[in-house]
Amino acid sequence: MGGRDDDFTMMHEAYLALVSRLNQYAKAYYTRDESLITDTEYDRLYQDLLSYEAANPLLMAPHSPSQRVGDQPLDQFQPFHHSQRLPSLDNAFDWPQIQAFWDRLAKLGPVAMSVEPKIDGLAVAIRYEKGVFHSGGTRGDGSRGEDVSLNLKTIRSLPLRLSSPVDIEVRGEVFMRKSVFAALDGQFANPRNAAAGSMRQLDPAICAQRCLDIQLYQGFYEGISTHSEMISFLAQLGFPVVGPVREVTSQDALQGALADISQQRDRLDWEIDGVVIKANSFQIQEEMGATSKAPRWAIAYKLAAQQGVTVIEDIVVQVGRTGVLTPVAQLRPVSLAGVRIQRATLHNMDHIERKGIRIGDEVSVERAGDVIPAVVEVVTSSADARAFKMPDACPVCGGEVQHDEDEVAYRCCNWSCQAQLKGRLAHFCHRKAMDLDGIGVSLLEQLVDTGLVTRLSDLYQLTANQLSVLDRMGEKSITNCLTAIQQKRHVRFDRFLFGLGIPFVGQRTASLLASAFPDLDQLMGASEESLLAVDEVGPKIVASLLSTFSSSDFQEMMAHFIQLGLTFEVLSPVGEGPLSNQTILFTGSLQEMTRDIAQEKAIKWGAKVVGSVSKRLDILVVGANAGSKLAKAQAFNESGASIQIMTEAEFLQIGEGD
Ligand SMILES: [Zn+2]
Repeated sequence: MGGRDDDFTMMHEAYLALVSRLNQYAKAYYTRDESLITDTEYDRLYQDLLSYEAANPLLMAPHSPSQRVGDQPLDQFQPFHHSQRLPSLDNAFDWPQIQAFWDRLAKLGPVAMSVEPKIDGLAVAIRYEKGVFHSGGTRGDGSRGEDVSLNLKTIRSLPLRLSSPVDIEVRGEVFMRKSVFAALDGQFANPRNAAAGSMRQLDPAICAQRCLDIQLYQGFYEGISTHSEMISFLAQLGFPVVGPVREVTSQDALQGALADISQQRDRLDWEIDGVVIKANSFQIQEEMGATSKAPRWAIAYKLAAQQGVTVIEDIVVQVGRTGVLTPVAQLRPVSLAGVRIQRATLHNMDHIERKGIRIGDEVSVERAGDVIPAVVEVVTSSADARAFKMPDACPVCGGEVQHDEDEVAYRCCNWSCQAQLKGRLAHFCHRKAMDLDGIGVSLLEQLVDTGLVTRLSDLYQLTANQLSVLDRMGEKSITNCLTAIQQKRHVRFDRFLFGLGIPFVGQRTASLLASAFPDLDQLMGASEESLLAVDEVGPKIVASLLSTFSSSDFQEMMAHFIQLGLTFEVLSPVGEGPLSNQTILFTGSLQEMTRDIAQEKAIKWGAKVVGSVSKRLDILVVGANAGSKLAKAQAFNESGASIQIMTEAEFLQIGEGD
């Protein structure tokens, strides 16, 4: 009795565990641009998930990754609402699956398919009104993405004005060329992450530097009857389009097209990870319709990853810019698609343990779109293979390595670790932290490389003499740099706290902490209970704060800051001020200040800044060219809401005398 039920319970538990694992991977991928496992491995697990769900449809978990297209957008961007759902495509991994797709199409009459390369990038939708760029957004969850209009406008190949004054919505893939990626020198794992990371920059100037590219693969416009005609029409309008788009009407021609595209793969200057096969006729597309997740009239054939088998000779550890330790396999050299590979990432300790990978094992190695190859799994384990253990001390600085139970990562927590210093400095100087705009990336690199700066506080003791020996530092740049630092000797405590880059202390947490503890002494002297009593501050943040404050490196650095004359502005506690307990939203373009500064003022005056118009909104501040948000607020007011609509000047009057 019960044997079958027990098996069944176990299987269902395994399924639920798979759901949460895949969700974790997807979250890392979509919100942090981190690949915790290879694409092939993800696809395999995802297929396992789908087959369980197909066999047990009633037991499908509502939070299963099969029930969504992408992931929730980040908070900072305005939402972008898709006029029609922007889905991802179902995948096919082999010829029988493609044939099945062919057969479904053949039921509706003679088959005509379009075949085109699938670029490995970031899907976006863009609107043009009367032939002029209007706005654009990412896929997000398929119905709502992030409005990345400013970043899209930095893409030089994307026309801002079309050759004809049409209203049209188009879709395409934003990507980074391999040649551009190579010049970035290891900041990202692969061109797709680089493209996605760049599009998610809040500062369009950074995105512009990344020289992104785009190719369109879809358009919505009346009077065109096939996909291939649409692509020609988009090209006529001046868009860069995907291609070449091949039309095929026989299975032989389809196989030929697939072979052509996979052969060209390595010769292209962009990564492709598959081939998109579509019903060419829009009428057929309409007849076939869509499932809740993907259209039935298209399929993405995934190209095989480039794999090889070799031996792990050793495992070493690299320290990244945020202190995360990444295990890297030293391989007996192996050739993957003509490229000689000697090193491959093992991602993290979790991957090594799950796969039982040991030094001396024969393993399969894969380069799947990723420029950095990865170890996939053990092929044969050697009898004298030995297990790898994460070091207790950082290989760069010897500092203590910490591992948080609910996090995959191991981190070096030394505040003066040289591997992390450049990243920490860049964060400290960032516009949203200390806002030291006289200090650019190349200067920071030189300061670290020459040893002039070995910890954050050293910035405050730089002299003109020291700076004059650096490259490209003329008198003017030196003055700019020193003035910028001088101006930031009396700073807001929340900005300083955020700039320190304490794990889990983001901008919002920093300002909550700064309201509760107005200076460094009070914060560092706070008890665990009083830290936990701060709104939204949980045990994970408190543990990170306490461990940071107890580090002698950190204590010495703080003393150094104070000794060099750093003092703090006191913030009024959150919720107090002329706008206390009011919600506020800004729309349109402001004339006197940036939106960031306006929002900071509102928060300082006690208001809570929200992201969208609702009936409960208290204040809407309207700048030039305000659009749908103003209309929405007016409509709410007509139906009984009392949203106060004010100009920028009226908003500024609120804080007069401040
Ligand atoms: Zn270190």
